[in-house]
Amino acid sequence: MTAKIIDGKAFAATVREKVAVHVARLKDENGITPGLAVVLVGEDPASQVYVRNKGKQTAEAGMASFEHKLDADTDQATLLKLIDDLNNDPAVHGILVQLPLPGHMDEDLVINAIDPAKDVDGFHISNVGLLGTGQKSMVPCTPLGCLMMLRDHYGSLSGLNAVVVGRSNIVGKPMANLLLRDSCTVTVAHSRTRDIEEVCRRADILVAAVGRPGMVTGDWVKPGATVIDVGINRVEKPEGGTRLVGDVEFASAVEVAGAITPVPGGVGPMTIACLLANTLTACCRANGLTEPEGLTA
Ligand code: NDP
Repeated sequence: MTAKIIDGKAFAATVREKVAVHVARLKDENGITPGLAVVLVGEDPASQVYVRNKGKQTAEAGMASFEHKLDADTDQATLLKLIDDLNNDPAVHGILVQLPLPGHMDEDLVINAIDPAKDVDGFHISNVGLLGTGQKSMVPCTPLGCLMMLRDHYGSLSGLNAVVVGRSNIVGKPMANLLLRDSCTVTVAHSRTRDIEEVCRRADILVAAVGRPGMVTGDWVKPGATVIDVGINRVEKPEGGTRLVGDVEFASAVEVAGAITPVPGGVGPMTIACLLANTLTACCRANGLTEPEGLTA
């Protein structure tokens, strides 16, 4: 059996299109333009690429994009003042502080300074608590993207066995909470899990968010399961240069799974699409307007 490939690139394009249609309507009917502010501290090359892509896709969706670039040696008080200004700016509906921050800054303190209603990354402690208790919140973009693809594939996730490998605050834990909210039976595996292969083989839905290239091989996968590969790992090619691979060994897993996301072109493109969706959601909530259907958790 060869799995269906879940095309995250195409799916992300449809999400961006839905966002753009809704944004155009907001402008026409309500005179409101959703705005996303992205704050980058320092010159980390990967972060610069992410921020550029976010700005480009925000503008393409018809939203206002505000970029704030601060030097790596900016003091924390200056960053907190900027966040306070953005919290109070009515043109800004979403605020994203690009992580990681330079070592002299307290990431938790900075993230928790963002107005939770504008926290489009869903990392503020209030949003984490709301999600954990099944209440309306801003949801982290990567797990939201995974959830959208799973709902699209299955319709209802109710009663399915889900195993999430990885327990980070940005992917593993919110993913587990979202799956639980959709009535999956959820197991979270991590570096101390015993017989992890056996645990994974029980999964109807297997989400890998580990950061270890190709760790999950085909013999960890239950025949017919859906495999969502969150990992983004850059590895050396034998012929020189590098390429991106996931946490799943695609070649063996694709022979066993029922459906699988590739890397690249799976979860990755969904992450920015969900950032745009979250910004639109935040804007609708801020203005007491109906939220876009199918773009939230
Ligand atoms: P973290 O490093 O924060 O967390 C990794 C998790 O994997 C930890 O919970 C760790 O367990 C677990 N782990 C590590 N080694 C093993 C092992 N041998 N067996 C079982 N579990 C293990 O990573 P992130 O969650 O931030 O990211 C995970 C991956 O997803 C990375 O490749 C990252 O690049 C990618 N990513 C992709 C995004 C996208 O847009 N597609 C967005 C964000 C991340 P423990 O807690 O016990 O240490």
